[in-house]
Amino acid sequence: MNRKYRKTVIAGNWKMNKTPSETKEFMTAFKAIMPKGRWCDIALCVPAVCIPAAVRAMRETRVGIGAENCNANPSGAYTGEIAANMLTDAGCKYVIIGHSERRAMGETDADINAKVHAALEAGLIPIVCCGETLEQREAGITSEWIAMQIKLALQGVSEEQIRKVIIAYEPIWAIGTGRTATPEQAQQVCEEIRTVVRKLYSSKHARATSILYGGSMNEKNAFELLAQPDIDGGLIGGASLVPEKFVKIIEAANQPTM
Ligand code: PEP
Repeated sequence: MNRKYRKTVIAGNWKMNKTPSETKEFMTAFKAIMPKGRWCDIALCVPAVCIPAAVRAMRETRVGIGAENCNANPSGAYTGEIAANMLTDAGCKYVIIGHSERRAMGETDADINAKVHAALEAGLIPIVCCGETLEQREAGITSEWIAMQIKLALQGVSEEQIRKVIIAYEPIWAIGTGRTATPEQAQQVCEEIRTVVRKLYSSKHARATSILYGGSMNEKNAFELLAQPDIDGGLIGGASLVPEKFVKIIEAANQPTM
């Protein structure tokens, strides 16, 4: 982390977990133990039907609510889909885009790029995900793969807009597996992502971009991961479902930075 230049962000991704009633219960428990300090931004990205309950519960707090996906089109005949401006109107601040679980359902890099534009136009902060498979890591192509995903996701994103984008590095082999990247592995890729942003934009933009790590981050390994200079926070699945665990990760972000 480096709080001097960029925001630290601790974001939860609930995936397809919790009902609206369970959301209300979580938020009540979370609010009661939420750290008071302002050392990081806090986001909770929840299933679409849970957004109203989450927004209502967190209205007077500094926690931003987010969605887990959006459609790239502003409106129209897309049964079952949700447009970015609908999320803004519902009170969302963030949207996760290009999560590997959605890519596995057929989402392409072009879809992801279109969604990034839709999110930015709707005033949302996109949390853009990238990550390699175990086979790609073992084949030694992680750096090239991640650079390609980032370049394609950010195509046509202006210098002004990149300031609003958060990037999340999530090695697929570490998501939901309990197998975390080592702090060194995660740092190396996050540093490489910053280099890609620098080449696409400028040193100033690269320095200001928050790059998160995700993949089995939990209350035990968060401190060490967040101590890395280019890891500016976490995108947390499983551990964000339990208020006590999520709070411990937020507390782990309260550490001295360079
Ligand atoms: C995720 O869903 O983005 C994620 C990182 O999940 P987990 O923390 O459970 O590995």
